Amino acid sequence: MSLARGREFLSIPGPTNVPDVVLAAMHRPAMDIYSADLLKVTESCLADLKKIFRTESGTTYAYVANGHAAWEAALTNVLSRGDKVLVLASGRFAVGWGDAGAMLGLDVEVLARSWHEAVDPAAVEARLKADVAHAIKAILVVQVDTATGVVNDIAAIRAAIDAAGHPALFMVDAIASIGCMPFEMDLWGIDVAVTASQKGLMMIPGLGFLAASPKARAAHATAGLRASYWDWTNRDQPEGYRKFCGTAPGHALFGQRAAFDLLFAEGLEAAWVRHRALAAAVQAAVEVWSRGGGIAFNVTEPAARAPSVTTVLTPGSDPERLRDFTRTQLGVILGSGLGELSGRAFRIAHMGYVNAPMVLGTLGAIEIGLAALAIPHGAGGVQAAVAALQDHFR
Ligand SMILES: *Cc1c(COP(=O)(O)O)cnc(C)c1O
Repeated sequence: MSLARGREFLSIPGPTNVPDVVLAAMHRPAMDIYSADLLKVTESCLADLKKIFRTESGTTYAYVANGHAAWEAALTNVLSRGDKVLVLASGRFAVGWGDAGAMLGLDVEVLARSWHEAVDPAAVEARLKADVAHAIKAILVVQVDTATGVVNDIAAIRAAIDAAGHPALFMVDAIASIGCMPFEMDLWGIDVAVTASQKGLMMIPGLGFLAASPKARAAHATAGLRASYWDWTNRDQPEGYRKFCGTAPGHALFGQRAAFDLLFAEGLEAAWVRHRALAAAVQAAVEVWSRGGGIAFNVTEPAARAPSVTTVLTPGSDPERLRDFTRTQLGVILGSGLGELSGRAFRIAHMGYVNAPMVLGTLGAIEIGLAALAIPHGAGGVQAAVAALQDHFR
């Protein structure tokens, strides 16, 4: 008999849980698009995005768009047809960004990597040193790859670019990491930072965000792929309606405002610590389960495991059976394996508006499912997660 009744537990890596105060902030009548309130909320969100991206010199933009669209916004504003871009693969998402670039007419080269490892900064340095003519105009990477659960060391990749003395624009997708872990646009010399509303930023899908460095804005002046909707110059005009190239997403802006307020009330750094502690609890459970042979981490190196999502392999069994079980019997929705890991993995999100009991509930449901489906696993994963959280308070 199913035990799934009660509030559904959404443990997928996006969209993530939306706090009630954020939902309530959007519950309002249609608004005058020229109202002072709307302009004010737009300007405050754009200003706070600078704090979230950690940039003083960058300019922020918001689009009525999801993450895929924000990728396109980033590329079209700074590049021209035929430009060469180097994609640093660590799973699916940087490659997907590159695919979007290929359709725009960019010359895309992928620096390949297995689906179990982070980008290797030494390989980046070697590839850039070989580009003596500086044909590569931009480097694309994700901070957290949501398919593999890999976290890339963005500071180390920046250092590799500097060691090669390469002038390419450094473009970073922080969609599955912003609000969940350190991201330092200015410190790490990032030229275009990309994110979206529905993951660490605790909002419904529908807002895409960019920050552009002065170097990116200089490249923008001569970019050949510029398009009216995405165009930074269009959006830099003083009139309020220009900020969204048309009707502003008023309700979403009030929702995002409330989500930013929550994030700043907690403190950005405190949110990073919370994510690290919850990730440690998840990793402690997976570590114990993996002793049985039917469960394994996807990411080999512990340091390359993301603080916002954990990808778990199920050697010898179909992860969809486990996902079906936790959903129908326990009301917990786990993420599915993507791409190469489809049918081979499930994903546990610990991203955004999430706390210890939510993580423990999800882990408990998985452990019940592992036993019910006779998936070989070490006993005591949840207990290990509890111990990890006890350590957090020691
Ligand atoms: C979710 C995600 C995307 C895509 O965002 P959509 O809003 O689904 O288009 C891109 N990159 C990363 C790292 C993501 O996690």
